[in-house]
Amino acid sequence: TQELLHRSDKLTAIGQLAAGIAHEIRNPLTAIKGFTQLLKERAQHNVEYYDVILSELDRANLIVGEFLLLAKPQLAEFRPASLEQILLLIITLLEPEANLHDVRIRMRFEPVPDVFIEENQIKQVLLNLLQNAIEAMPDGGELTIELASFGADQIRLRLVDQGNGMSEEQLQKLGDPFFSTKEKGTGLGLMVSFKIIEDHGGKLNITSVVGVGTTIDLLLPVT
Ligand code: ADP
Ligand code: MG
Repeated sequence: TQELLHRSDKLTAIGQLAAGIAHEIRNPLTAIKGFTQLLKERAQHNVEYYDVILSELDRANLIVGEFLLLAKPQLAEFRPASLEQILLLIITLLEPEANLHDVRIRMRFEPVPDVFIEENQIKQVLLNLLQNAIEAMPDGGELTIELASFGADQIRLRLVDQGNGMSEEQLQKLGDPFFSTKEKGTGLGLMVSFKIIEDHGGKLNITSVVGVGTTIDLLLPVT
């Protein structure tokens, strides 16, 4: 089964509220972590309990961090930027992980005009999309990254993986908060990504075939 999804409207006021709450939770978490580290240093017994507390705190921080990205950043600066340059950077970051899982990355970049984006947000989106693709291929495969013009005023980034793919039911849940099939997943990456791309006036289309792989088209407006 294959399905085309336009899912940039899933995020509601609840997401914005969650981002606000996340902000309030971050400070106490930071304090708890600091004092736990101090306690651990002085501990005579059960030192391993502190490691459990600290790693659970890290997990809570990760989730809070993803929600914070939903809040409209005060310093959002939309600027012309080269998607190619950003992609090369993200690929460099992810190369060790890709090599570890025998994922080969193929790039087909056509020369394209700059896009008009908030660079940090788009980096966040690309990092998550590429990470998802790599994580979908635990036993290796090919990840193709294509960059091309799309019509007169858009750029299309296409990611094709040969991973485990998704059923129609899974596709429907993409972008729902906490939907994850991974043991250590947060299930927030795509929710945040849909929101960011919506804020950019772009589009994120996902098609997938179980056992074959997933194709993600990201459209962004040029300057
Ligand atoms: P997380 O990566 O933390 O699980 P995401 O929001 O990034 O959260 O993704 C949600 C879920 O969507 C994943 O757990 C996975 O089931 C599915 N998914 C996303 N991208 C892919 C992909 N390229 N191939 C297969 N499944 C995917
Ligand atoms: Mg993810």
